[in-house]
Parts: sequence; C-alpha cells; structure tokens
Amino acid sequence: MTRHPDRADDPDRRSPASDSDVSTHVYLCTGCPLGCRLEVDATEEDVVEVRGFNCRKGERYGEQEHLDPRRPLSTTIWIEGATIRRVPVRTAEPIPRDQVRAVAEALRGLRVTAPVRRGDVVVADILGTGIDVIVTRDLPAVSPHNQLPAG
Ligand code: SF4
Repeated sequence: MTRHPDRADDPDRRSPASDSDVSTHVYLCTGCPLGCRLEVDATEEDVVEVRGFNCRKGERYGEQEHLDPRRPLSTTIWIEGATIRRVPVRTAEPIPRDQVRAVAEALRGLRVTAPVRRGDVVVADILGTGIDVIVTRDLPAVSPHNQLPAG
C-alpha cells in the first residue's frame, strides 16, 4: 500500500475522517497503456489516499478523476473554401466529463472558412468552461473550382 504522500506524511494535512466516513472508489488510470487499477479512499469532501499507481501522474489522475473527472473531446466541424468538407478540432484541454455531450452538441453546426491553421481557436471558452476549441490541422484556402461545399 502506498500512502498519499502529501497527506499521509504531513500531520497538518492528515484527514481527521474516521474509517466509517471513508469509502473506496476504483478507477483505471488512462495515463499510459499499463492501465493501473487505482483505489481512491475519499470522504464526501476530499481524497484521503490513492493506491495502486506506479507513478506520480497516476496518483494525480486518481485524485482528479474522483474530484473533478475530465475528458478530452475531438470531433470535426464544417469548413468552407477548402478541399475537404470537415476539419478536425479538439478541446485545448480536457473538459468536465458532465459537459462533454453539451460541448459536442454546441459544435455540431459550427462552420469555419479556410484558411485555418493548426492551433487556431474556433470557439473560445466553450460553454463557459474556460477552455478553447482549436483546429488540429492546417487547411489552406483553395480556388473556387477546387472547393467542396460544406454540408
Ligand atoms: S499510474 Fe502511471 S504507470 Fe500506471 S497507468 Fe497511470 S500513468 Fe501509467
């Protein structure tokens, strides 16, 4: 068993919760292909201990996944004036898991016009998450006879 170093070793941060206040939650770390099985002991307010990680990234993942689970979102949106109809975009950072569906819906009818460059922001602060949606591919503008109309 590995104690949570920030809490277990610091008397000022050690949880005063009794064992009956603590429940254990299991998550699979997605930080790398190993997929470590994380056990997170937590009260209603805070994480007490994370076990099962093989690196600090996994420890942080366990805490984050319990307190504020987030997911990256990648999709495509319509583009006009390019040689293809849709351009790939993604959230610049993972967004709160419970907002993934709403963000995907908000992007559904979005259209941009070529040219676009990788990293261009197509929506800033999507749905008030504080996170931008960015283009992930360069697409130059092309002459009208080479364009495909957006759907
Ligand atoms: S804890 Fe570390 S080693 Fe294990 S899956 Fe997560 S990132 Fe990979």
